[in-house]
Amino acid sequence: MNGDTGQRPPGLGRALPVFTVDVEDWFQVSAFDSHVARDQWDALPSRVERNTDRLLQLCADTGARGTFFTLGWVAERFPALLRRIAEQGHEVASHGYWHQRIPTISESAFREDVRRAKAVLEDASGQRVTGYRAPSFSLTDDVLWAARVLVEEGHEYDSSRFPISRSGYGSANASRDPHVLHTASGPLLEYPPAVWPVAGLQVPVAGGGWFRQFPSWLITTGLAEVLKGGQPAVFYIHPWEIDPDQPRLPVGMVTRIRHYRGLAACDRRLEVLLRRFQFRAFDDLRASA
Ligand SMILES: [Zn+2]
Repeated sequence: MNGDTGQRPPGLGRALPVFTVDVEDWFQVSAFDSHVARDQWDALPSRVERNTDRLLQLCADTGARGTFFTLGWVAERFPALLRRIAEQGHEVASHGYWHQRIPTISESAFREDVRRAKAVLEDASGQRVTGYRAPSFSLTDDVLWAARVLVEEGHEYDSSRFPISRSGYGSANASRDPHVLHTASGPLLEYPPAVWPVAGLQVPVAGGGWFRQFPSWLITTGLAEVLKGGQPAVFYIHPWEIDPDQPRLPVGMVTRIRHYRGLAACDRRLEVLLRRFQFRAFDDLRASA
């Protein structure tokens, strides 16, 4: 396993805005791990289906295509949602089964998790699943063995190495550009979420909490600059981010700001963004490579 080698096949870096959704319920985010145990999930009121349907509607209204990195847990409980994602022309990919950050589990547990997720997602959607995004972008430098496991379990590309440094996640030394992770079992294409290098800073303009906390012009300018540089601009959002009415958990101040700030305006801001760029899915990017 050589990690990031910087070697790039022709076409891997075509400039295309890529829309991605990490399909998980409001209580499954990593920051809530200590507040919500996995065995409570089934008892909580699920909002993932209606929120994902709203994202599908926004895509339909704006002509966007996307890649939906979905939890196996969600696919098993809501197979009809997976069929709708596929029928409406989007790509289904894997976000793992249990939303476990890779550094917290063993290699065999990771293998079991991604294998189960892929099987459930393919069964529910009728699509072959080739893409993966780790919970909380946790395919970090110290767990690069996970890239080999992903290849061995039939994945062809990954979008989990966020080239920024922040407590809890990030791969500060990873390349901002698409590249190949060479593993003992073969190559894994890596598509990092969008980071805009400006004035000596690495500004994450990829979406999620950054999208809700930063002004819209900063995100729009950053994505446009990444595209101008000839690279794909990978954007992500979660279904719970357009749901200001989700139940609130008694979390600490930092998590409260990161998770709940900007929810009310997010739907409208996302619609504007989806109209500003012609977003496509990872399979469009790879088909054109
Ligand atoms: Zn997630």
